[in-house]
Amino acid sequence: MTYFKDLNLPSNLLNNLDSLGYTKMTPIQKISLPHILNQKDIIAKAKTGSGKTLAFSLPLVQHIKAKQQHPQALIITPTRELAEQIATEIKRIARYKPDVKVVTLYGGTSLTRQVESLQKGADIIVGTPGRLLDHFSRESFELEEIKTLILDEADRMLDMGFAEDILKLVSNLPKKRQTLLFSATYPDDISKLSEKVLTDAIRVELEEQEQTLKIQEHAFYVDNKEKALITTLQSFQPNLAIIFCNTKVKTTEVSDMLNDKGFDVATLNGDLEQYQRQEMMLQFANGSLPILVATDLASRGLDIESVELIINYDFPHKEEEYTHRIGRTGRADKEGIAVSLCNEYEKRKIDEIHPTLKLKDIKELKVNKNFYMQGEVNTLCIDGGKKKKLRAGDILGTLCKDIGLNVKDIGKINVLNTHSYVAINKNVIEKAFNGLKNGKIKKRKFRVWWL
Ligand code: ADP
Ligand code: MG
Repeated sequence: MTYFKDLNLPSNLLNNLDSLGYTKMTPIQKISLPHILNQKDIIAKAKTGSGKTLAFSLPLVQHIKAKQQHPQALIITPTRELAEQIATEIKRIARYKPDVKVVTLYGGTSLTRQVESLQKGADIIVGTPGRLLDHFSRESFELEEIKTLILDEADRMLDMGFAEDILKLVSNLPKKRQTLLFSATYPDDISKLSEKVLTDAIRVELEEQEQTLKIQEHAFYVDNKEKALITTLQSFQPNLAIIFCNTKVKTTEVSDMLNDKGFDVATLNGDLEQYQRQEMMLQFANGSLPILVATDLASRGLDIESVELIINYDFPHKEEEYTHRIGRTGRADKEGIAVSLCNEYEKRKIDEIHPTLKLKDIKELKVNKNFYMQGEVNTLCIDGGKKKKLRAGDILGTLCKDIGLNVKDIGKINVLNTHSYVAINKNVIEKAFNGLKNGKIKKRKFRVWWL
């Protein structure tokens, strides 16, 4: 049994999976799906990028009934970005089922607006612990009908001190429910939480040989990290790269330094406003800003296509975080490269956390001094989205038919609730900007910004 069609699933679900490019199950899906479809509680451990999201989303979507009074599923994640990503994936999988409502609840966005969308009916709620608890105390949703609870990256939530919040939410859920825990790492203290939230759980874990990732790991001993960072980028010449720092301040310093040197950089840390976080991630994923400098906020769960290089500018404090950081590349059987830049003090940390990693001399790397990571595209923001019934096709139509752009100059289009974003080749972006500013989309005027 390796194909989704070998599972006993309705044909419209299978057709939709097929259209999304999901035909063969990944190993973790193959061993966990039968149990999950069978309504068992599971605690699943599988390497980064192995398809855990689909493993928990597919049975969820299959069991969900649209247009019920109360939410039926609750998914808790450590970060806002991960909540958003999971909600998007669930909506894709649920395309074949009309009217399934997925609502995201996390901090940094208006509580009132979240309450409004809850009032319109939510079947599946995806959120971060603090904001979920906030809504629960305000009674903006009922938990009585929850049939499925999913904790993605549960160990990270414990690390962040969310255990109490999670337990408070869980104690208000029906006892009769299915609970699923997913992560690539489980430190010992997870068992306390799992005992409290799971019932007769089945542990699902892959064999060691199925766990190997196609990530080439390097560590270099360096005395000047800024110089070494440029060397690394100019040597590996990736499409997209993520650079991890241990502090928020450091992410800003490193971003400024790279900007000065002519690299196009996005920064992600917890000091940013929510809209800035969203726009940074978006511009990274659409190629406008091909480098993301981030704290561990970006280390868990994020799935961004064609991230080829991960750099630990600072070496992480824990083995788990090393695993998750480098796991942002080499996803879904692709290859990736991870580089750690280490000073004298960090050498000791490597011995402790990852002793098999051998330190090399950075002088071994050949560099192309003319290589700079600059986005071929820039992003325009339009002040209308799903709420104004705008679709990607409408924006594409206006850009091509009315403004006269070539399709190949138009990159990713993201239509969010209240705004839309479109990536456009730098050579023609001025034309696109003026055209959108002075023209109309679907016969309506919209405001446009150049990010
Ligand atoms: P994990 O949570 O295990 O780190 P994700 O669920 O984010 O990994 O999945 C990683 C990538 O693999 C995603 O881009 C996803 O679309 C892809 N993927 C998942 N399952 C399949 C499958 N059965 N076939 C092909 N691609 C898949
Ligand atoms: Mg995941």
